[in-house]
Amino acid sequence: MSENCNAEVSEKKNLNFVEQIVFNDLQEGKNGGRLNTRFPPEPNGYLHIGHAKAICMDFGVAEKFGGTCNLRFDDTNPVKEDTEYVDAIREDIHWLGFDWADREYYASDYFPQLFDLAIRMIKEGKAYVDDQTSEEIAAQKGTPTRPGTNSPYRDRTPEENLDLFMRMNAGEFPDGARVLRAKIDMASDNMHFRDPIMYRIITKYPHHRTGTTWKVYPMYDFAHGQSDFFEGVTHSICTLEFVPHRPLYDYFAQELAKGGDYCPRQIEFNRLNLTYTVMSKRKLLQLVQEGLVAGWDDPRMPTISGMRRRGYTPQSIRNFIDTIGYTKYEALNSVSLLEHAVRDDLNRVATRVMAVVNPVKLVITNYPEGKVEQVSMENNPEDPQAGTHSMPFSREIYIERDDFMENPPKKFFRLAPGAEVRLKGAYIIKCENVVKDADGNITELHCTYDPETLSGMPGSMRKVKGTLHWVSASHAIDATVRLYDRLFNVENPAAETERDFREMLNPESLKTVTGVKVEPFLAENATQGAKFQFQRIGYFTPDYDSTAENLIFNRTIALKDTWEKVKS
Ligand code: ATP
Ligand code: MG
Repeated sequence: MSENCNAEVSEKKNLNFVEQIVFNDLQEGKNGGRLNTRFPPEPNGYLHIGHAKAICMDFGVAEKFGGTCNLRFDDTNPVKEDTEYVDAIREDIHWLGFDWADREYYASDYFPQLFDLAIRMIKEGKAYVDDQTSEEIAAQKGTPTRPGTNSPYRDRTPEENLDLFMRMNAGEFPDGARVLRAKIDMASDNMHFRDPIMYRIITKYPHHRTGTTWKVYPMYDFAHGQSDFFEGVTHSICTLEFVPHRPLYDYFAQELAKGGDYCPRQIEFNRLNLTYTVMSKRKLLQLVQEGLVAGWDDPRMPTISGMRRRGYTPQSIRNFIDTIGYTKYEALNSVSLLEHAVRDDLNRVATRVMAVVNPVKLVITNYPEGKVEQVSMENNPEDPQAGTHSMPFSREIYIERDDFMENPPKKFFRLAPGAEVRLKGAYIIKCENVVKDADGNITELHCTYDPETLSGMPGSMRKVKGTLHWVSASHAIDATVRLYDRLFNVENPAAETERDFREMLNPESLKTVTGVKVEPFLAENATQGAKFQFQRIGYFTPDYDSTAENLIFNRTIALKDTWEKVKS
């Protein structure tokens, strides 16, 4: 192992294929033993869970082998880019638990060097200005089995090309009037080698960093490999759709490396695709702009910011990505796997509380009026360190309407006339009487309690089958909950070519329930980012809209996966 990378990894065991390549390169002392990766988002949208997979790889492999990872904004297209996205991307990467220290770069930092390289290539007869429209250029491209045709402008002299290119950048020509192309091979087997476009004219949109300095902007293929080179990136890890771009990546990188000791290398892995959602930034932007969701951070969005707002933890996202792994084969990953990882992590960290979503009043007729007892509730049975909190118990409480049935089937172990249940953390009660209004709706349940059965007391050894959650009526706080479900009701919206993706939105993806009764503990403790398990219901977190006066909770995930059942 080279001395530059103080790697913790000394054996090739359990490495994914990218890590194996990096391991081998380091062992062979390539690039002077340096390891430098980069995460290269285009600031034209918020990051989604697919980007999280790339982030975990780019930052993860650097961490694992003692290298570094740059954050590089790939900002070569001012038409769609914005500083709002830059800020959001920074926040999301930090939240996932990764850091780029002072290595924050922008492809636009290299505009001067890229321009110089273009000029050099023009002078060397390796690039030319084409006056054709993009349609004409596309028509000459040929097909994978049929060679393309040369542009009529292909044999311009370097002097003429240089003059035109300088004037393109001086703003003399309108957008789309001319492009700069690399002069490679219109008959190449690789379509990307058929005189790819290097620069286009954009005058109508100022750049978020360079303003109106430039009138020509480099294409992705002419910017990415070179930016890697300028930064000293050794391993440029990206997704499989870039495989056909790799020869061109190498071609331009070699224009700079010139066969020297150092040259960046592109390695591709499979994208993350998730069921019941879309991952295209263009489509996500459309959902936002058309108001079909409440913003990029709507808790139903597959964005990192949406998942954060919904209550997902960074650890659960990272665990999920570990589970699916990195391969060379495209796959559609089940969102159930992600949800499983979320439940798993929240089970570990969430504070257990009581909330009654659909309340019915229950009166304990033999409990003294005005008496209040504080009963002790475990904060998290998975974590003995988490301690307890107290919860008031009194004569009138709320339970879930669904937890009572007047004519229950045999295996209904909840409350029914004459039946006994335990109130979690408190007493065993017995239903004596059902009170109804004139229309026959149940308004109150009258019960008696057994004073010998307080949880944790000697008499409490008596067992009953059902245990219900509850809150004391006079102490309960009203809250609103937002129940989220999958944003789309088809498994793979991107695969449905006949229908517009917006037609596949799940109309039930958000239900708002008001008048939810929560225990008073939440008045003080429902702070931003806090994670709760509403016992027997699911995991919840306060929404950004939540205030002390108006508590609003997002359901992160139900306790059980109901979809798997519905499907079968
Ligand atoms: P665009 O269509 O705008 O290029 P993009 O999703 O490729 O969208 P980028 O900002 O260019 O967005 O992506 C930054 C990095 O994230 C790239 O290296 C890209 O390969 C990676 N990436 C994007 N989507 C996924 C995904 N679904 N799974 C894994 N990595 C992804
Ligand atoms: Mg991209």
